[in-house]
Amino acid sequence: MNRLIIFCFLVGCYSVSAQDFQTPLQKNGFTRPSSYEELSEFVRQADAGSGLLTVEAAGNSVRGRNIYAMKFSSSVFGVDRSKIRVFLFAQQHGNEHSGKEGALLLAAELLKPENRYLFDRIDLLLVPQVNPDGSEESQRRNGNEADLNRNHLILTEPETITLHRLFDQYHFDVTMDVHEYYPYGETWKEYGYRNNSDELLGTATNINVSEKLRRLSNESFLPFMKEFFSGRNVSNFIYSPGGPPEIDYIRHSTFDINDGRQSFAILNTLSFIQEGINGRDLFTDNIRRRAEGQMTGMRGLLEYSYDNYRKIKKTVAAERKKLIRGVAGKTVSIQNEHVRDGRTLPLPLWSYSTGTDTVVNVIDYRPVVRSLYDVRKPCGYMIPAELVDVTAWIARHALVTENFAGGDRYRIEQYDVSSIDSTDFEGDMIVNPEVTLREHDAGIKYSDYIYVPTSQLKGNMIVIALEPKSMLGLVTYPGFANLLRANDKFPILRVTRK
Ligand SMILES: [Zn+2]
Repeated sequence: MNRLIIFCFLVGCYSVSAQDFQTPLQKNGFTRPSSYEELSEFVRQADAGSGLLTVEAAGNSVRGRNIYAMKFSSSVFGVDRSKIRVFLFAQQHGNEHSGKEGALLLAAELLKPENRYLFDRIDLLLVPQVNPDGSEESQRRNGNEADLNRNHLILTEPETITLHRLFDQYHFDVTMDVHEYYPYGETWKEYGYRNNSDELLGTATNINVSEKLRRLSNESFLPFMKEFFSGRNVSNFIYSPGGPPEIDYIRHSTFDINDGRQSFAILNTLSFIQEGINGRDLFTDNIRRRAEGQMTGMRGLLEYSYDNYRKIKKTVAAERKKLIRGVAGKTVSIQNEHVRDGRTLPLPLWSYSTGTDTVVNVIDYRPVVRSLYDVRKPCGYMIPAELVDVTAWIARHALVTENFAGGDRYRIEQYDVSSIDSTDFEGDMIVNPEVTLREHDAGIKYSDYIYVPTSQLKGNMIVIALEPKSMLGLVTYPGFANLLRANDKFPILRVTRK
Protein backbone atom coordinates (compact mmCIF):
# COMPACT_ATOMS: atom_id res chain seq x y z
CA MET A 1 0.00 0.00 0.00
CA ASN A 2 2.87 2.37 0.81
CA ARG A 3 4.26 1.90 -2.61
CA LEU A 4 0.90 2.74 -4.15
CA ILE A 5 0.64 5.94 -2.14
CA ILE A 6 4.12 7.04 -3.13
CA PHE A 7 3.42 6.15 -6.74
CA CYS A 8 0.24 8.24 -6.65
CA PHE A 9 2.14 11.10 -5.11
CA LEU A 10 4.64 11.16 -7.91
CA VAL A 11 2.40 10.81 -10.94
CA GLY A 12 -0.78 12.35 -9.60
CA CYS A 13 -3.31 9.82 -8.44
CA TYR A 14 -6.20 9.50 -10.87
CA SER A 15 -6.92 5.81 -10.46
CA VAL A 16 -9.01 4.45 -7.62
CA SER A 17 -7.40 2.24 -5.01
CA ALA A 18 -7.43 -1.51 -5.41
CA GLN A 19 -10.19 -1.75 -2.87
CA ASP A 20 -12.89 -0.36 -5.11
CA PHE A 21 -11.46 -1.12 -8.47
CA GLN A 22 -14.19 -1.02 -11.11
CA THR A 23 -14.34 -3.05 -14.30
CA PRO A 24 -15.24 -1.40 -17.61
CA LEU A 25 -18.68 -3.05 -17.44
CA GLN A 26 -19.34 -1.58 -14.00
CA LYS A 27 -18.18 1.81 -15.22
CA ASN A 28 -20.57 1.78 -18.17
CA GLY A 29 -23.46 0.79 -15.95
CA PHE A 30 -23.81 -2.74 -17.40
CA THR A 31 -24.86 -1.42 -20.80
CA ARG A 32 -22.25 -2.76 -23.24
CA PRO A 33 -19.43 -5.30 -23.30
CA SER A 34 -15.91 -4.23 -22.41
CA SER A 35 -13.96 -3.46 -25.54
CA TYR A 36 -10.48 -4.83 -26.05
CA GLU A 37 -9.04 -1.36 -25.39
CA GLU A 38 -10.99 -1.01 -22.14
CA LEU A 39 -9.96 -4.49 -21.05
CA SER A 40 -6.33 -3.68 -21.84
CA GLU A 41 -6.53 -0.50 -19.78
CA PHE A 42 -8.22 -2.33 -16.91
CA VAL A 43 -5.58 -5.04 -16.67
CA ARG A 44 -2.79 -2.45 -16.92
CA GLN A 45 -4.25 -0.44 -14.04
CA ALA A 46 -4.91 -3.55 -11.97
CA ASP A 47 -1.32 -4.63 -12.50
CA ALA A 48 0.06 -1.22 -11.50
CA GLY A 49 -2.18 -1.02 -8.45
CA SER A 50 -1.42 -4.33 -6.80
CA GLY A 51 1.62 -6.28 -5.66
CA LEU A 52 -0.49 -9.43 -5.83
CA LEU A 53 -0.95 -9.28 -9.58
CA THR A 54 1.40 -9.41 -12.55
CA VAL A 55 -0.05 -9.05 -16.02
CA GLU A 56 1.68 -10.07 -19.19
CA ALA A 57 0.77 -10.57 -22.81
CA ALA A 58 1.14 -14.34 -23.03
CA GLY A 59 0.54 -14.41 -26.76
CA ASN A 60 -1.18 -12.65 -29.64
CA SER A 61 -4.38 -13.28 -31.52
CA VAL A 62 -4.54 -13.78 -35.29
CA ARG A 63 -4.90 -10.01 -35.72
CA GLY A 64 -2.11 -9.23 -33.26
CA ARG A 65 -4.13 -8.34 -30.17
CA ASN A 66 -2.73 -9.29 -26.78
CA ILE A 67 -3.95 -12.34 -24.89
CA TYR A 68 -3.50 -11.21 -21.30
CA ALA A 69 -2.37 -13.57 -18.57
CA MET A 70 -3.19 -12.21 -15.11
CA LYS A 71 -0.98 -13.95 -12.57
CA PHE A 72 -2.13 -13.72 -8.96
CA SER A 73 0.40 -14.83 -6.40
CA SER A 74 1.45 -13.78 -2.92
CA SER A 75 5.04 -14.55 -3.93
CA VAL A 76 6.53 -15.16 -7.37
CA PHE A 77 3.98 -16.91 -9.54
CA GLY A 78 4.65 -20.60 -10.10
CA VAL A 79 7.67 -20.81 -7.80
CA ASP A 80 6.18 -22.07 -4.51
CA ARG A 81 5.56 -25.76 -5.12
CA SER A 82 3.35 -26.11 -2.05
CA LYS A 83 0.68 -23.97 -3.69
CA ILE A 84 -2.12 -25.28 -5.82
CA ARG A 85 -2.03 -23.90 -9.35
CA VAL A 86 -5.35 -22.86 -10.83
CA PHE A 87 -5.92 -21.80 -14.43
CA LEU A 88 -9.15 -19.98 -15.35
CA PHE A 89 -9.82 -18.83 -18.90
CA ALA A 90 -12.81 -17.24 -20.58
CA GLN A 91 -14.19 -16.12 -23.93
CA GLN A 92 -12.76 -18.62 -26.33
CA HIS A 93 -15.98 -17.85 -28.16
CA GLY A 94 -15.96 -14.15 -28.93
CA ASN A 95 -19.74 -13.70 -28.74
CA GLU A 96 -19.85 -15.05 -25.17
CA HIS A 97 -19.06 -11.86 -23.31
CA SER A 98 -20.31 -12.78 -19.85
CA GLY A 99 -17.30 -15.03 -19.21
CA LYS A 100 -14.90 -12.17 -19.89
CA GLU A 101 -16.97 -9.75 -17.81
CA GLY A 102 -17.19 -12.29 -14.97
CA ALA A 103 -13.44 -12.80 -15.11
CA LEU A 104 -12.81 -9.05 -14.82
CA LEU A 105 -15.27 -8.79 -11.91
CA LEU A 106 -13.39 -11.66 -10.30
CA ALA A 107 -10.07 -9.90 -10.78
CA ALA A 108 -11.44 -6.78 -9.08
CA GLU A 109 -12.78 -8.91 -6.21
CA LEU A 110 -9.51 -10.74 -5.73
CA LEU A 111 -7.63 -7.47 -5.30
CA LYS A 112 -9.65 -6.66 -2.19
CA PRO A 113 -7.66 -7.21 1.03
CA GLU A 114 -10.32 -9.52 2.50
CA ASN A 115 -9.71 -12.05 -0.30
CA ARG A 116 -5.97 -12.08 0.13
CA TYR A 117 -6.14 -15.34 2.15
CA LEU A 118 -6.84 -17.32 -1.05
CA PHE A 119 -3.28 -16.75 -2.17
CA ASP A 120 -1.82 -18.36 0.92
CA ARG A 121 -2.55 -21.59 -0.93
CA ILE A 122 -3.30 -20.66 -4.53
CA ASP A 123 -1.35 -19.34 -7.49
CA LEU A 124 -4.01 -18.26 -9.98
CA LEU A 125 -3.61 -17.62 -13.68
CA LEU A 126 -6.61 -15.82 -15.14
CA VAL A 127 -6.97 -15.29 -18.89
CA PRO A 128 -10.14 -13.18 -19.16
CA GLN A 129 -10.22 -13.06 -22.95
CA VAL A 130 -8.81 -15.87 -25.08
CA ASN A 131 -10.34 -14.58 -28.32
CA PRO A 132 -10.06 -10.77 -28.52
CA ASP A 133 -10.60 -10.72 -32.31
CA GLY A 134 -13.87 -12.62 -31.98
CA SER A 135 -14.88 -10.39 -29.07
CA GLU A 136 -14.43 -7.17 -31.03
CA GLU A 137 -16.65 -8.55 -33.82
CA SER A 138 -18.92 -10.33 -31.32
CA GLN A 139 -18.47 -13.53 -33.29
CA ARG A 140 -17.90 -17.06 -32.05
CA ARG A 141 -14.81 -17.80 -34.09
CA ASN A 142 -11.33 -16.28 -34.11
CA GLY A 143 -9.67 -14.18 -36.82
CA ASN A 144 -9.04 -17.30 -38.93
CA GLU A 145 -12.71 -18.36 -38.71
CA ALA A 146 -11.67 -21.25 -36.47
CA ASP A 147 -13.75 -22.50 -33.55
CA LEU A 148 -11.11 -22.35 -30.83
CA ASN A 149 -12.95 -24.79 -28.61
CA ARG A 150 -12.57 -27.52 -31.26
CA ASN A 151 -8.90 -26.71 -31.81
CA HIS A 152 -7.15 -28.03 -28.69
CA LEU A 153 -6.00 -31.26 -30.29
CA ILE A 154 -4.74 -30.04 -33.66
CA LEU A 155 -3.65 -26.78 -32.01
CA THR A 156 -3.32 -24.70 -35.15
CA GLU A 157 -4.50 -21.32 -33.81
CA PRO A 158 -2.33 -18.78 -31.94
CA GLU A 159 -4.96 -18.40 -29.21
CA THR A 160 -5.12 -22.10 -28.31
CA ILE A 161 -1.37 -22.46 -28.69
CA THR A 162 -1.02 -19.66 -26.11
CA LEU A 163 -3.26 -21.50 -23.62
CA HIS A 164 -1.34 -24.74 -24.00
CA ARG A 165 2.02 -23.02 -23.76
CA LEU A 166 0.89 -21.56 -20.45
CA PHE A 167 -0.24 -24.97 -19.30
CA ASP A 168 3.00 -26.62 -20.37
CA GLN A 169 4.93 -24.02 -18.42
CA TYR A 170 3.06 -24.35 -15.11
CA HIS A 171 1.28 -27.73 -15.18
CA PHE A 172 -1.82 -26.44 -13.45
CA ASP A 173 -3.60 -28.73 -10.99
CA VAL A 174 -7.03 -27.25 -11.67
CA THR A 175 -8.44 -25.64 -14.83
CA MET A 176 -11.78 -24.16 -15.84
CA ASP A 177 -12.96 -23.00 -19.25
CA VAL A 178 -15.79 -20.44 -19.13
CA HIS A 179 -18.50 -20.26 -21.82
CA GLU A 180 -22.15 -19.43 -22.46
CA TYR A 181 -24.90 -21.81 -23.52
CA TYR A 182 -27.76 -20.88 -25.83
CA PRO A 183 -31.11 -22.39 -24.73
CA TYR A 184 -33.43 -20.48 -27.08
CA GLY A 185 -33.40 -22.81 -30.12
CA GLU A 186 -36.50 -23.49 -32.20
CA THR A 187 -36.72 -27.21 -31.38
CA TRP A 188 -36.87 -26.35 -27.69
CA LYS A 189 -39.51 -23.68 -28.32
CA GLU A 190 -41.63 -26.27 -30.12
CA TYR A 191 -40.99 -28.68 -27.27
CA GLY A 192 -42.38 -26.02 -24.94
CA TYR A 193 -39.57 -25.88 -22.40
CA ARG A 194 -35.96 -24.73 -22.28
CA ASN A 195 -32.99 -24.72 -19.97
CA ASN A 196 -32.93 -21.70 -17.71
CA SER A 197 -30.18 -22.30 -15.14
CA ASP A 198 -27.89 -19.34 -14.56
CA GLU A 199 -24.87 -21.62 -14.59
CA LEU A 200 -24.10 -25.15 -15.81
CA LEU A 201 -20.96 -27.01 -14.79
CA GLY A 202 -19.36 -29.86 -16.72
CA THR A 203 -16.67 -32.29 -15.63
CA ALA A 204 -14.32 -34.51 -17.63
CA THR A 205 -16.14 -37.30 -19.47
CA ASN A 206 -13.41 -38.97 -21.52
CA ILE A 207 -12.93 -42.38 -19.88
CA ASN A 208 -9.16 -42.28 -20.30
CA VAL A 209 -9.05 -39.45 -17.76
CA SER A 210 -8.10 -40.65 -14.27
CA GLU A 211 -11.12 -42.23 -12.62
CA LYS A 212 -10.03 -40.76 -9.27
CA LEU A 213 -10.11 -37.26 -10.71
CA ARG A 214 -13.47 -37.85 -12.37
CA ARG A 215 -14.85 -39.11 -9.08
CA LEU A 216 -13.43 -36.13 -7.19
CA SER A 217 -15.10 -33.85 -9.76
CA ASN A 218 -18.49 -35.52 -9.67
CA GLU A 219 -18.74 -36.58 -6.03
CA SER A 220 -16.97 -33.72 -4.28
CA PHE A 221 -16.67 -30.64 -6.52
CA LEU A 222 -20.17 -30.66 -8.03
CA PRO A 223 -21.98 -31.01 -4.67
CA PHE A 224 -19.76 -28.24 -3.25
CA MET A 225 -20.62 -25.97 -6.17
CA LYS A 226 -24.31 -26.74 -5.99
CA GLU A 227 -24.31 -25.41 -2.46
CA PHE A 228 -21.98 -22.53 -3.30
CA PHE A 229 -24.20 -21.33 -6.15
CA SER A 230 -27.47 -21.89 -4.31
CA GLY A 231 -26.23 -19.97 -1.28
CA ARG A 232 -25.62 -17.02 -3.58
CA ASN A 233 -28.94 -17.22 -5.39
CA VAL A 234 -27.43 -18.52 -8.64
CA SER A 235 -29.50 -21.31 -10.19
CA ASN A 236 -27.33 -24.14 -11.43
CA PHE A 237 -27.17 -27.65 -12.79
CA ILE A 238 -24.75 -30.15 -14.25
CA TYR A 239 -24.01 -29.45 -17.94
CA SER A 240 -26.36 -31.77 -19.84
CA PRO A 241 -26.45 -31.01 -23.57
CA GLY A 242 -28.59 -32.83 -26.11
CA GLY A 243 -32.37 -33.01 -26.11
CA PRO A 244 -35.08 -31.84 -26.07
CA PRO A 245 -35.95 -34.81 -23.82
CA GLU A 246 -37.04 -37.95 -25.70
CA ILE A 247 -36.50 -36.21 -29.05
CA ASP A 248 -32.73 -36.55 -28.74
CA TYR A 249 -30.77 -38.14 -25.92
CA ILE A 250 -29.27 -36.11 -23.07
CA ARG A 251 -25.65 -36.70 -22.07
CA HIS A 252 -23.01 -34.96 -20.02
CA SER A 253 -21.32 -33.46 -23.04
CA THR A 254 -18.86 -34.83 -25.54
CA PHE A 255 -16.00 -37.21 -24.74
CA ASP A 256 -13.87 -35.51 -27.39
CA ILE A 257 -10.54 -34.14 -26.18
CA ASN A 258 -10.36 -31.15 -28.50
CA ASP A 259 -11.94 -28.61 -26.14
CA GLY A 260 -10.69 -26.47 -23.28
CA ARG A 261 -11.97 -28.80 -20.61
CA GLN A 262 -10.99 -32.21 -21.89
CA SER A 263 -7.67 -31.31 -23.51
CA PHE A 264 -6.36 -30.49 -20.04
CA ALA A 265 -8.32 -33.26 -18.31
CA ILE A 266 -6.59 -35.88 -20.48
CA LEU A 267 -3.34 -34.73 -18.81
CA ASN A 268 -4.94 -35.72 -15.49
CA THR A 269 -5.86 -32.22 -14.48
CA LEU A 270 -8.93 -31.49 -12.37
CA SER A 271 -10.65 -29.74 -15.24
CA PHE A 272 -14.09 -28.19 -15.76
CA ILE A 273 -16.28 -26.25 -18.13
CA GLN A 274 -18.68 -23.58 -16.95
CA GLU A 275 -21.57 -22.46 -19.13
CA GLY A 276 -23.49 -19.33 -18.17
CA ILE A 277 -26.85 -18.66 -19.79
CA ASN A 278 -26.66 -16.59 -22.96
CA GLY A 279 -28.53 -13.32 -23.26
CA ARG A 280 -31.22 -13.40 -25.91
CA ASP A 281 -30.00 -10.21 -27.57
CA LEU A 282 -26.43 -11.44 -27.05
CA PHE A 283 -25.43 -8.90 -24.48
CA THR A 284 -27.49 -6.47 -22.48
CA ASP A 285 -30.19 -8.98 -21.52
CA ASN A 286 -29.59 -9.54 -17.84
CA ILE A 287 -25.85 -8.96 -18.25
CA ARG A 288 -25.25 -7.96 -14.66
CA ARG A 289 -26.74 -11.17 -13.34
CA ARG A 290 -25.00 -13.26 -15.99
CA ALA A 291 -21.56 -11.73 -15.39
CA GLU A 292 -21.95 -12.11 -11.63
CA GLY A 293 -23.09 -15.72 -12.10
CA GLN A 294 -19.94 -16.46 -14.10
CA MET A 295 -17.82 -14.77 -11.45
CA THR A 296 -19.55 -16.77 -8.71
CA GLY A 297 -18.64 -20.05 -10.42
CA MET A 298 -15.01 -19.04 -10.83
CA ARG A 299 -14.91 -17.84 -7.21
CA GLY A 300 -16.44 -21.14 -6.11
CA LEU A 301 -13.72 -23.05 -7.90
CA LEU A 302 -11.10 -20.99 -6.03
CA GLU A 303 -12.79 -21.65 -2.68
CA TYR A 304 -13.00 -25.37 -3.46
CA SER A 305 -9.35 -25.42 -4.48
CA TYR A 306 -8.41 -23.55 -1.31
CA ASP A 307 -10.35 -25.91 0.95
CA ASN A 308 -9.11 -29.08 -0.75
CA TYR A 309 -5.71 -28.05 -1.97
CA ARG A 310 -3.73 -30.87 -0.36
CA LYS A 311 -6.03 -33.59 -1.60
CA ILE A 312 -6.25 -32.17 -5.12
CA LYS A 313 -2.50 -31.68 -5.44
CA LYS A 314 -1.79 -35.15 -4.13
CA THR A 315 -4.30 -36.83 -6.42
CA VAL A 316 -3.26 -34.89 -9.51
CA ALA A 317 0.43 -35.60 -8.86
CA ALA A 318 -0.16 -39.33 -8.33
CA GLU A 319 -2.35 -39.68 -11.40
CA ARG A 320 0.10 -37.73 -13.55
CA LYS A 321 2.95 -39.89 -12.34
CA LYS A 322 1.16 -42.87 -13.89
CA LEU A 323 1.09 -41.09 -17.25
CA ILE A 324 4.72 -40.01 -17.03
CA ARG A 325 5.90 -43.44 -15.95
CA GLY A 326 3.91 -44.85 -18.85
CA VAL A 327 2.35 -48.25 -18.60
CA ALA A 328 3.06 -49.97 -21.89
CA GLY A 329 0.45 -52.60 -22.53
CA LYS A 330 -2.27 -50.67 -20.74
CA THR A 331 -5.28 -50.04 -22.94
CA VAL A 332 -6.52 -46.70 -24.19
CA SER A 333 -10.09 -46.28 -25.39
CA ILE A 334 -10.28 -44.65 -28.84
CA GLN A 335 -13.94 -45.17 -29.78
CA ASN A 336 -16.76 -44.42 -27.38
CA GLU A 337 -20.48 -44.01 -27.10
CA HIS A 338 -22.92 -42.62 -24.55
CA VAL A 339 -25.20 -45.23 -22.99
CA ARG A 340 -27.97 -45.40 -20.40
CA ASP A 341 -27.50 -46.96 -17.01
CA GLY A 342 -31.13 -47.23 -15.92
CA ARG A 343 -31.25 -43.85 -14.23
CA THR A 344 -33.46 -40.99 -15.31
CA LEU A 345 -32.47 -37.33 -15.08
CA PRO A 346 -34.62 -34.76 -13.26
CA LEU A 347 -33.81 -31.85 -15.56
CA PRO A 348 -34.73 -28.33 -14.44
CA LEU A 349 -36.44 -26.50 -17.31
CA TRP A 350 -38.51 -23.37 -17.84
CA SER A 351 -41.96 -23.61 -19.39
CA TYR A 352 -42.79 -21.37 -22.34
CA SER A 353 -46.51 -21.69 -21.62
CA THR A 354 -46.57 -20.92 -17.90
CA GLY A 355 -43.36 -18.87 -17.68
CA THR A 356 -42.29 -20.82 -14.61
CA ASP A 357 -39.55 -23.26 -13.68
CA THR A 358 -40.34 -26.94 -13.62
CA VAL A 359 -38.57 -30.30 -13.63
CA VAL A 360 -38.82 -32.79 -16.50
CA ASN A 361 -37.82 -36.37 -15.90
CA VAL A 362 -35.61 -37.46 -18.79
CA ILE A 363 -35.87 -41.13 -19.76
CA ASP A 364 -33.42 -41.14 -22.69
CA TYR A 365 -30.55 -40.09 -20.47
CA ARG A 366 -27.12 -41.49 -21.35
CA PRO A 367 -24.70 -40.49 -18.62
CA VAL A 368 -22.23 -43.34 -19.12
CA VAL A 369 -19.41 -43.28 -21.67
CA ARG A 370 -18.62 -46.80 -22.84
CA SER A 371 -15.60 -47.90 -24.80
CA LEU A 372 -16.30 -49.42 -28.20
CA TYR A 373 -12.70 -49.95 -29.18
CA ASP A 374 -9.50 -50.16 -27.13
CA VAL A 375 -5.90 -50.31 -28.25
CA ARG A 376 -2.90 -51.47 -26.27
CA LYS A 377 -0.74 -48.53 -25.42
CA PRO A 378 2.59 -48.87 -27.22
CA CYS A 379 5.95 -47.69 -25.84
CA GLY A 380 5.89 -45.03 -28.50
CA TYR A 381 5.19 -44.02 -32.07
CA MET A 382 7.61 -43.55 -34.94
CA ILE A 383 6.65 -40.60 -37.14
CA PRO A 384 8.24 -40.32 -40.59
CA ALA A 385 10.21 -37.04 -40.48
CA GLU A 386 8.86 -36.23 -43.94
CA LEU A 387 5.33 -35.90 -42.49
CA VAL A 388 5.88 -32.22 -41.75
CA ASP A 389 2.26 -31.57 -40.74
CA VAL A 390 2.58 -34.18 -38.01
CA THR A 391 6.07 -33.15 -36.89
CA ALA A 392 4.87 -29.52 -36.67
CA TRP A 393 1.96 -30.77 -34.54
CA ILE A 394 4.46 -32.54 -32.26
CA ALA A 395 6.34 -29.26 -31.86
CA ARG A 396 3.16 -27.27 -31.12
CA HIS A 397 2.28 -29.68 -28.32
CA ALA A 398 5.89 -29.60 -27.10
CA LEU A 399 5.90 -33.39 -26.98
CA VAL A 400 8.94 -35.16 -25.65
CA THR A 401 10.79 -36.89 -28.47
CA GLU A 402 13.71 -39.29 -28.17
CA ASN A 403 16.35 -40.96 -30.24
CA PHE A 404 15.33 -44.52 -30.87
CA ALA A 405 17.44 -47.10 -32.65
CA GLY A 406 15.34 -50.24 -32.28
CA GLY A 407 16.84 -53.34 -30.71
CA ASP A 408 15.91 -56.93 -29.94
CA ARG A 409 13.57 -56.03 -27.15
CA TYR A 410 11.24 -54.09 -29.41
CA ARG A 411 8.68 -54.98 -32.00
CA ILE A 412 7.84 -52.41 -34.67
CA GLU A 413 4.21 -52.58 -35.80
CA GLN A 414 2.43 -51.13 -38.78
CA TYR A 415 -1.21 -50.88 -39.78
CA ASP A 416 -2.42 -51.94 -43.20
CA VAL A 417 -5.49 -49.91 -44.17
CA SER A 418 -7.84 -52.01 -46.31
CA SER A 419 -10.75 -49.57 -46.59
CA ILE A 420 -11.96 -46.31 -45.12
CA ASP A 421 -15.46 -46.75 -43.75
CA SER A 422 -17.35 -44.33 -41.55
CA THR A 423 -19.02 -44.35 -38.17
CA ASP A 424 -21.41 -42.18 -36.20
CA PHE A 425 -19.79 -39.85 -33.70
CA GLU A 426 -22.37 -38.02 -31.62
CA GLY A 427 -24.50 -37.48 -34.72
CA ASP A 428 -21.68 -36.72 -37.19
CA MET A 429 -20.25 -39.24 -39.64
CA ILE A 430 -16.49 -39.62 -39.35
CA VAL A 431 -13.86 -41.93 -40.83
CA ASN A 432 -13.47 -45.41 -39.41
CA PRO A 433 -10.87 -47.37 -41.36
CA GLU A 434 -10.59 -51.14 -41.53
CA VAL A 435 -7.05 -51.90 -40.40
CA THR A 436 -4.83 -54.88 -39.70
CA LEU A 437 -1.88 -54.60 -37.37
CA ARG A 438 1.22 -56.59 -38.27
CA GLU A 439 4.94 -56.60 -37.61
CA HIS A 440 6.75 -54.11 -39.81
CA ASP A 441 8.80 -55.49 -42.68
CA ALA A 442 12.49 -55.52 -41.88
CA GLY A 443 14.81 -52.72 -42.89
CA ILE A 444 13.80 -49.58 -41.04
CA LYS A 445 16.06 -46.57 -41.33
CA TYR A 446 15.50 -45.17 -37.84
CA SER A 447 17.01 -41.80 -38.68
CA ASP A 448 14.08 -41.19 -41.04
CA TYR A 449 11.69 -41.16 -38.06
CA ILE A 450 10.94 -39.05 -35.01
CA TYR A 451 10.23 -41.17 -31.96
CA VAL A 452 7.51 -40.04 -29.55
CA PRO A 453 7.42 -42.13 -26.38
CA THR A 454 4.06 -42.54 -24.64
CA SER A 455 5.72 -42.35 -21.22
CA GLN A 456 5.03 -38.63 -20.81
CA LEU A 457 2.29 -36.42 -19.40
CA LYS A 458 0.60 -36.28 -22.80
CA GLY A 459 0.88 -40.06 -23.30
CA ASN A 460 -2.84 -40.82 -23.48
CA MET A 461 -3.44 -37.80 -25.69
CA ILE A 462 -0.72 -39.08 -28.04
CA VAL A 463 -2.41 -42.48 -28.38
CA ILE A 464 -5.82 -40.92 -28.98
CA ALA A 465 -4.31 -38.54 -31.55
CA LEU A 466 -2.20 -41.00 -33.53
CA GLU A 467 -4.18 -44.23 -33.77
CA PRO A 468 -5.84 -44.57 -37.21
CA LYS A 469 -9.11 -45.91 -35.77
CA SER A 470 -9.42 -43.17 -33.15
CA MET A 471 -12.72 -41.33 -33.54
CA LEU A 472 -11.03 -38.37 -31.83
CA GLY A 473 -7.74 -38.69 -33.70
CA LEU A 474 -5.82 -36.49 -36.13
CA VAL A 475 -7.15 -38.49 -39.10
CA THR A 476 -10.65 -37.09 -38.45
CA TYR A 477 -9.43 -33.53 -39.21
CA PRO A 478 -9.21 -32.28 -42.81
CA GLY A 479 -5.56 -31.23 -42.40
CA PHE A 480 -4.54 -34.79 -41.50
CA ALA A 481 -7.04 -36.89 -43.46
CA ASN A 482 -4.36 -37.77 -46.03
CA LEU A 483 -2.67 -39.98 -43.44
CA LEU A 484 -5.36 -42.56 -44.25
CA ARG A 485 -5.32 -44.17 -47.68
CA ALA A 486 -7.25 -47.29 -48.62
CA ASN A 487 -5.14 -50.29 -49.64
CA ASP A 488 -2.05 -48.60 -48.25
CA LYS A 489 0.09 -48.62 -45.13
CA PHE A 490 -0.58 -46.21 -42.26
CA PRO A 491 2.67 -44.21 -42.14
CA ILE A 492 2.92 -43.86 -38.32
CA LEU A 493 4.49 -46.93 -36.70
CA ARG A 494 3.94 -48.39 -33.23
CA VAL A 495 6.80 -49.53 -31.03
CA THR A 496 5.94 -52.21 -28.48
CA ARG A 497 8.02 -54.38 -26.20
CA LYS A 498 8.40 -58.00 -27.21
ZN1 LIG B 1 -18.59 -21.28 -25.90
